[in-house]
Amino acid sequence: MADATIVQPPDNPQDQPQSGEPPPEPTEMSPTELVEAKQYGRWQLWLDLADAALDVVYLSVFALLVAVPLDAWLAHRLPSDLLRLLALYGAMIGLHECVSFPLAWFSGYTVEHRFGLSRQSFAGWLYRHAKRFALAVVFGTVMVLALYALFWHVGAWWWLAAAVAFFLVSVVLGQLAPVLILPLFYKIEKLEHEELAARVGALARESGLSIEGVYRMVLSDETAKANAMLAGLGRTRRVLLGDTLLDRFTLDEIEVVFAHEIGHHVYRHIPKLMAVGFLYSLAGFWLCDRALAVWIGPAVYDPHTMPVYAMPMLMLVLAVFSLVLVPLQNVMSRRFERQCDRFALTRTGLRDAYVSAFRKLSKLNKDDPDPPRLAVILFHSHPPIAERIAAAG
Ligand SMILES: [Zn+2]
Repeated sequence: MADATIVQPPDNPQDQPQSGEPPPEPTEMSPTELVEAKQYGRWQLWLDLADAALDVVYLSVFALLVAVPLDAWLAHRLPSDLLRLLALYGAMIGLHECVSFPLAWFSGYTVEHRFGLSRQSFAGWLYRHAKRFALAVVFGTVMVLALYALFWHVGAWWWLAAAVAFFLVSVVLGQLAPVLILPLFYKIEKLEHEELAARVGALARESGLSIEGVYRMVLSDETAKANAMLAGLGRTRRVLLGDTLLDRFTLDEIEVVFAHEIGHHVYRHIPKLMAVGFLYSLAGFWLCDRALAVWIGPAVYDPHTMPVYAMPMLMLVLAVFSLVLVPLQNVMSRRFERQCDRFALTRTGLRDAYVSAFRKLSKLNKDDPDPPRLAVILFHSHPPIAERIAAAG
């Protein structure tokens, strides 16, 4: 990792405060804060790239060099294909955790503390990391077992069945996530603020939307960053506002942020993302099928007898496929965000609050208002803050 290059101050002249012409959209960040935000953005870019590269390299090594001999070794010790599959998956994910842990620690703990964004103790961070890992192991195991069940029982059309199954799971998880999964990580309580609840309630009703409720999500134990999100489908549809946001933003600013979140519901972004997700998984699983056929040998390839050692290759193809899709997904996500920004502006008419909310967000989250184009294209699901502020006209 090119550590030396990421901590340098920005060399772009327009980033310098005294360059004659004022920047097109001045932010309330001081020049020092702006430099810090840019450094933080660079760290994030490099860490995201390092994380992606590590995953691809690890999975390639495991799929090409480790899987076949390990599967053969396990064959002498374990009686069934199913147990061997579980053992191989356990080895793959366990070793991956060992290999990726230093990077996770560095990016999730060290860097966040260095920039004063994390409020977690190391033990607190470790506990959360362990919980996330446990959840990933549970989901991963279910996924691997389901895919192999489809290989062995459905055969040639497994990829179609898998895409349908994953779509159904995403619908169910979409309903359950805000009720079951989010509370595993954050304390969530009904918002106790009469005036605010009345204002946001009215806004939701005027938008013709029934939402299950507005919640305060306690993020402040973990981070200084302000955040808000929508979650759920149908009867679990709700808006979650971080306590970090509720405590530091004015009522007008909160109303604007809330209106943005409501916009996601009004434009049905969650169902749209799920529909696109179905197409992605259809393409992804089909690609896996073709790649496995080539790798195993087209003449002998038969999903009914899919070897256990093919599992890491399957994971590698899926990982590469989803990495390649991230920029594409982000194009759509940024479009959705712009749509909601416009909705928030016109629905509330609170232009000043809109601008100050974004300035505050950018300052609190050390979010570079005008990040390098490459970072935006590769990893940003939201438009740059400078662009969002400029949209207010
Ligand atoms: Zn949004």
